[in-house]
Amino acid sequence: MSVFEHASFDNHERVLFATDKVTGLKAIIAVHTTVTGPACGGCRFWSYSTSEAALNDALRLSQGMSYKNIMAGLPIGGGKSVIMKPDGDFDRDALFQAFGRAVESLNGAYITAEDVGVNPSDMMSVRKFTKHAVGLPEGKAASGDPSPITAEGVFRGLKVCVERGLGKSSLDGVRVAIQGASGHVGNYLAGHLAGAGAELVITDINEPGLKALNEKYGAQIVGPDEIYDADVDVFAPCALGSIINPDTIDRIKAKVIAGAANNQLATQDMGAELQKRGKIYAPDYVLNAGGIINVMGEITGDFDPSWVQGKLDGLETTLADILDISDSEGRPSNLIADEMARNRIEDARGGKVLETA
Ligand code: NAD
Repeated sequence: MSVFEHASFDNHERVLFATDKVTGLKAIIAVHTTVTGPACGGCRFWSYSTSEAALNDALRLSQGMSYKNIMAGLPIGGGKSVIMKPDGDFDRDALFQAFGRAVESLNGAYITAEDVGVNPSDMMSVRKFTKHAVGLPEGKAASGDPSPITAEGVFRGLKVCVERGLGKSSLDGVRVAIQGASGHVGNYLAGHLAGAGAELVITDINEPGLKALNEKYGAQIVGPDEIYDADVDVFAPCALGSIINPDTIDRIKAKVIAGAANNQLATQDMGAELQKRGKIYAPDYVLNAGGIINVMGEITGDFDPSWVQGKLDGLETTLADILDISDSEGRPSNLIADEMARNRIEDARGGKVLETA
């Protein structure tokens, strides 16, 4: 398995491979950049078929965190970690404690939090061995589960896209397909959308969660693969990455693609392909920054909900700016966002002062 030659390697400052024989821990911590502060990003707990797949996720997701954090104007860098779910029985508490020891070995260069498959009580296990873990359910300035704020940011950005793409200032009657609707973010997003009058088409591999949404909001349930063909105005991917790819792109009927999932585009050129098809794509790491914004208060030890709301306003403005530039220059929104993010990182590297207020 190559690292420096890996297609997703982007001059990452550090990549730590951590194992623990007793607990079965196999984790990768990727620190993409600390140029604006300690690298911060969640930990994903997933059944990876190969360590190559886990490395790819860690490298891509950590670069995405650098871009996300700098676009949200946060004084932190980008990092991410993945834990390969052990086969068979395992002691979850002990596994996350072992992960905590690995995080601690980086002496604060990386701060971890929840991502897919990880919950606040796992973070309490991590915290037993390192203070560099946030998203805790209790303690000073605890910000808890970041998903509700992530969902709020996605909801607000989605409305910006709908206004541009469909010319509607209200979501009343707008049809939205949510992939991963039973998940943490998907569930909260469904609540916001239903509250605003949107009609929901939902899918997930976790069926009981879907039934609850069906009963609560009258959402139409479709199979995991059928979601791509749904006759909707908006597609909100809130499950896993790479779901916009050559096999799915021509099946998507929605004009707007705006969801929480990280790395939605299987490859960068999918952004141009979406643009060619007249779609509005909200760059994922811009739209889903609510969670890390919420967690920021915990990092600084000074959680302030009004600061969080101000940052969500900023998220909407940044997204609108990206879509404006994309329109005026006729270039895909994902490339505009990447360019802005890279420029901001280079500015920070060059010592320019960042706007973090
Ligand atoms: P989650 O694990 O709670 O939810 C993901 C959901 O997707 C689950 O219900 C799962 O059953 C479902 N799913 C998995 N594979 C699927 C498939 N093939 N088809 C349909 N559904 C499938 O995770 P989450 O915290 O809600 O995060 C969702 C996405 O948003 C992830 O990509 C995550 O990286 C991203 N994200 C989350 C946050 C946050 O605050 N939680 C912040 C930023 C980005």
